Amino acid sequence: MQKGHLLYEGKAKSLYATDEPNVIWMTYKDDATALNGARKTAFANKGRLNNQISTLLFHYLEKNGVQTHLLETLSETEQLVKKVDVIALEVVVRNVMAGSLAKKLGVAEGAVLAEPIVEFYYKDDALDDPFINEDHIRFLGLATLAEIAELKTVAHTINALLQERFKAANIELVDFKIELGRLADGSIVLADEISPDSCRLWDSETKQKLDKDVFRRDLGDLVSVYEEVLRRLTA
Ligand code: UDP
Repeated sequence: MQKGHLLYEGKAKSLYATDEPNVIWMTYKDDATALNGARKTAFANKGRLNNQISTLLFHYLEKNGVQTHLLETLSETEQLVKKVDVIALEVVVRNVMAGSLAKKLGVAEGAVLAEPIVEFYYKDDALDDPFINEDHIRFLGLATLAEIAELKTVAHTINALLQERFKAANIELVDFKIELGRLADGSIVLADEISPDSCRLWDSETKQKLDKDVFRRDLGDLVSVYEEVLRRLTA
């Protein structure tokens, strides 16, 4: 497989064409951004750690019946993935009150939710990825009613599987963001990544933060907590 021209440069990953039209070459970068890219720092090894963690979690989800875009992990920072028509939504699932929801509702962080909450954000940097509802999604033509129902079902399935996987590593899955895409036949698959960049992960006992909040909130060394997550998932 030949790596071709740059198709898209994101905040934490770059996408390249390949000589195969249905295959994308994805590279993980060391950059961490906050405030929609306004704050950016490079952390040596972050790309490698996210690639390894995301690969491990995608394989686990595949094994448990969740379709993903992952084809092959090529190197420490590179993957081959299926080309998908990415749905311009960030699907957030929450198990514990934290982050923007805690702020919006004026509720303290840390309360365990009786049931997981699923939220949709419109992926649009110029608009700052606003929170949107199902009617907005249909107005924008991002997904049909049936697809929205499927997105929610897939999000709940992934949440239940990930909660179990992280619990075995003594980690509480507080919340996370996923992105999904359509294959040529219209079927919906998990795309992008699942890593400490896109999840809130707390130590089950001490509630120590093991995710990007360490960067967002200046709480210490980001790379060593990502290493700790990988260590626990592979112990
Ligand atoms: N998240 C993400 N990318 C985004 C926004 C949120 O990966 O652009 C993740 C974030 O890491 C957390 C979850 O989605 O695990 C919920 O984030 P929240 O809405 O609380 O926003 P935040 O306060 O983190 O900006």
